[in-house]
Amino acid sequence: MKIVCVGWNYMSHAAEMDRALPEEPLIFLKPSTCIIGDGDEIRIPEGVTNVQHEVELALIFGKTGKNIPEEEAMSYISGLAVFNDVTARDMQAADRAKGNPWDLCKGMDTFGPLSEIVPAEGIDIGDLEMLLTVNGEARQKVNTGRMIFSPAKVIAYVSRYMTLEAGDILATGTPDGISEIKPGDIVCASITKIGSVTNRVA
Ligand code: MG
Repeated sequence: MKIVCVGWNYMSHAAEMDRALPEEPLIFLKPSTCIIGDGDEIRIPEGVTNVQHEVELALIFGKTGKNIPEEEAMSYISGLAVFNDVTARDMQAADRAKGNPWDLCKGMDTFGPLSEIVPAEGIDIGDLEMLLTVNGEARQKVNTGRMIFSPAKVIAYVSRYMTLEAGDILATGTPDGISEIKPGDIVCASITKIGSVTNRVA
């Protein structure tokens, strides 16, 4: 199982990260070992600084596909969930400066809180309200309709190069409002009609 993630998929986040709008989706993977559930702790390894939250809509594949046409892409999705793409931002900034990949800054254990999965059928993923709070205070709030690349476009694009398997997860990117989380914080990511995932930072 793999977690396929999109970087810079909301204009507002690209702007806050001082990044030009992408012409094609920026794709990276997170390992399955980063996933934790509701109520589990986000653990920051010693020496890692400026860890940040990223609320994202996650799509779960119900069947395997390759070269999936955009028009058929959503038929491959069986479930939806809320995902928090936790990121070690200082390490990522150093990686970006050196042109290095993001595997470690994005892939640490517990850096992938995932909510319960709900059936995708009947939910319009182009019009959902995402909210992330830290200690009850809103930090990220946006509608999924503001994505640059629709999930269907991303699925068609990625599956040209990489087989997407049943059980894989597509994390569709985060909007602006990213901020640091610190030990003791309670981080809650939620999306209307799907649910929420709440985690304490240890
Ligand atoms: Mg992200």
